[in-house]
Amino acid sequence: MPENNVILSVRHLTASIDGIPILKGVNLEVKAGEIHAIMGRNGSGKSTFSKVLAGHPSYEVTGGEVIYQGQNLLEFEPEERARMGVFLAFQYPIEIPGVSNLEFLRVAYNAKLKQEGKEEIDTFDFEDLVESKLDLVKMDSRFLDRSVNQGFSGGEKKRNEILQMALLEPKLAILDETDSGLDIDALKIVANGVNQLAKPDNAFILITHYQRLLNYIEPDFVHVMQNGQIVTSGGKELALELESRGYDFLDEQVISEVGV
Ligand code: ADP
Ligand code: MG
Repeated sequence: MPENNVILSVRHLTASIDGIPILKGVNLEVKAGEIHAIMGRNGSGKSTFSKVLAGHPSYEVTGGEVIYQGQNLLEFEPEERARMGVFLAFQYPIEIPGVSNLEFLRVAYNAKLKQEGKEEIDTFDFEDLVESKLDLVKMDSRFLDRSVNQGFSGGEKKRNEILQMALLEPKLAILDETDSGLDIDALKIVANGVNQLAKPDNAFILITHYQRLLNYIEPDFVHVMQNGQIVTSGGKELALELESRGYDFLDEQVISEVGV
């Protein structure tokens, strides 16, 4: 176990897409048992940050470091990162026509077992395992036979991401705007899933534009991203302040703190 239970340590991370700098020096430390929220205006770099952590090939890391459980995460391929326990729930979950949800989940789960040096799970046992997790996301078992996310509503896609997470039991789960487009019932289901999956030995990074998800999931830390940097951090009260004052008040604060 790395010292101080640090799961993720990001230092001075910079990244570009098509030569355009997007992340401009992100610093973040996440310890086991913590829930972090990253908020910020649209276009501030939140999704870019999550995709860089997951290893999305379109983004070029131009500087800084990402240490995950004592290893240089940036050296690993996206699928290796997933097998190492890094899970990203996308802002826009992809559809995979022709691949059933059950099959998709089974392949992902077996890859994880293999990484742990364990035997593949039998199809029938796997179905039982998935069934046992469906309740958490209030999902009907007929969703398992459908193509991955195809024709799923926004809320069903997000719940499907939580189902994947429940099965894979990641060490570090990054949820990118998992709350956007959800009605209040679906929001509660997603929040309930996260609350049940949060354990002393794992960690969550919740990326959200709005405060309302944080009514249901209590973060230990709230960070605000602005122009590719985390410009301010605080406790959950920071989210409430953002909600009531909007993001504009930060501009003045940042000017006085950073002197830009
Ligand atoms: P957020 O998730 O905070 O809304 P993003 O990380 O999606 O922000 O975007 C940050 C900035 O990077 C935006 O200005 C966006 O236009 C730009 N960006 C993101 N992806 C691309 C891309 N594929 N090509 C060009 N610019 C991009
Ligand atoms: Mg985004």
